[in-house]
Amino acid sequence: MPIYEFKCNQCKANFEQLCRHDWHGTVSCPACGGKDLARTLSAFCSPGTGGGKNCAGCAGGNCASCK
Ligand SMILES: [Zn+2]
Repeated sequence: MPIYEFKCNQCKANFEQLCRHDWHGTVSCPACGGKDLARTLSAFCSPGTGGGKNCAGCAGGNCASCK
């Protein structure tokens, strides 16, 4: 499963978020509910790799909708 890793800028918690087409702008920190997040890693869904073709878990089969 494509997963993004986020770091909360409010409480410094790290957490992972599954790569979904509808996460953008809706992800909040599970620890404090904050929305000031920094994406620290996209292990399976890195923009710039293969033009997004290797992100099989994203909606539509590419990364265009989940960057
Ligand atoms: Zn937080």
